[in-house]
Amino acid sequence: MKEWLRAHAARVGRLVLVLGWLALPAGPAHAWGFFGHRLLNRLAVYTLPPEMLPFFKANIEYLTNNATRPDSRRTVVPTEAPRHFMDVDVYGDSALTRHGLPRAYADAVALVGGEDSLLRHGIVPWQVAKMKGQLTAAFQAGDTDRILYLAADLGHYVADACVPLHTTRNYNGQLTGQRGIHALWESRLPELQAADYDLLTGQAPYLEQPTEAAWAAVARAHAAVDSVFTMEKAVSGELAEDRKFSYEQRGNQTIRTYSREFSLAYHRRLGGQVERQLRYAARLIGAFWYTAWVDAGQPDLTGLDQQPSAAAQLAAAQESKAASAAPARALPGHDE
Ligand SMILES: [Zn+2]
Repeated sequence: MKEWLRAHAARVGRLVLVLGWLALPAGPAHAWGFFGHRLLNRLAVYTLPPEMLPFFKANIEYLTNNATRPDSRRTVVPTEAPRHFMDVDVYGDSALTRHGLPRAYADAVALVGGEDSLLRHGIVPWQVAKMKGQLTAAFQAGDTDRILYLAADLGHYVADACVPLHTTRNYNGQLTGQRGIHALWESRLPELQAADYDLLTGQAPYLEQPTEAAWAAVARAHAAVDSVFTMEKAVSGELAEDRKFSYEQRGNQTIRTYSREFSLAYHRRLGGQVERQLRYAARLIGAFWYTAWVDAGQPDLTGLDQQPSAAAQLAAAQESKAASAAPARALPGHDE
């Protein structure tokens, strides 16, 4: 027992070192949620090789603080929402194979009969592939502001591609009487359990085919969708309704959420799924950053400005202010 405790304490200590302070959010969550996205961009820094690590470590707070920027942007940029998901079940699993949906965006648009049709069901793998190209160009240009801006955003979209509920029309269980499962899986469970996870993954690999890697991430996440729903049903069958939900006061509204007891039982039933996906996502984010740097010709990062410029920091602050000031409104796609 003592041994276990020591090992456990060491692991938690290590994780706390890596995570630093990750504040919890208020309000609705998208994708991994505030906590998960910040955690993942942070973990990804530690997967980088020695040539990249000092530059990224010097900017780890920027990468953490801006990890959720693409979600905030949804309220002000109308074309933002589709970049975070893909409804694979609309197309069928074969869409994800190499002979399925075209990897070139323009070809996919032509195939489905227009951009609106494609956007309606989400474009996350194309978004990841596009941003990988942009990050490579930023490394080539030696542009610190662009590198950091794009790395933070790319980390977000890669992370979204790894969330099972970002790959299905039934993204919040709204079609199967499991409404609320989205935030449960990707926010509540990691927030409750991440201190017990072992999320350090070693150095990220070079991606020979980054576009295929983005599609493989979506395929892997989609393969987990079935158990995400089935296990929720199984645990629901074992707990009475009054133990399944609890009620929280938010402002003058009473919100029904999954209870802590249910959340923990569901987490156990998933058998490490959330932890595995987090670990996979952290490593994949690192792999995309690393691959962009290699494809740019492995530029020496010690010669660059080591921090974003004052102008870039101001722009980031303004963008976040605009997003929080924007009125809440219905958005197309995965918007519950
Ligand atoms: Zn997102």
